[in-house]
Amino acid sequence: MAARDFAPGDLVVAITGREVRVPTRYTLQLAPSLHVDAEPQPDAVGGYPEWRFLNHSCDPNTMVRGKTFVARRAIRRGDELTFDYESTEWDMATPFSCECGSRNCRRMIRGYRHLSAKARAQLGALTAPHLLTLAVHDSAAS
Ligand SMILES: [Zn+2]
Repeated sequence: MAARDFAPGDLVVAITGREVRVPTRYTLQLAPSLHVDAEPQPDAVGGYPEWRFLNHSCDPNTMVRGKTFVARRAIRRGDELTFDYESTEWDMATPFSCECGSRNCRRMIRGYRHLSAKARAQLGALTAPHLLTLAVHDSAAS
């Protein structure tokens, strides 16, 4: 839930956590072989990082820019914060069926690797740069 109002482009949440090489259902992908783990740290005081609680939406109100989530549109205090998991994840550890209710809902959320060319085009500017890098190598391999 948003703790206050945000204007488009505002920093909403920083992405903190332990950097790991292997994705799990609680990681967020930052680079081709780099993920951030949202599990609580043994030596951390505050428990889970806030970003762990952002749910997926096919029409999200935040997007990842570097190691932050920024507002994609105006967000009101109390709104549920969402981002598009397929804008950062190449191949998700735990695919799921989406019921976000948006007009462009893609139904099965499995990772950017599995998106059609049309779905990739619709994701457009939300797409994290590392996914474009991985897509080039993927198409070269197949
Ligand atoms: Zn959806």
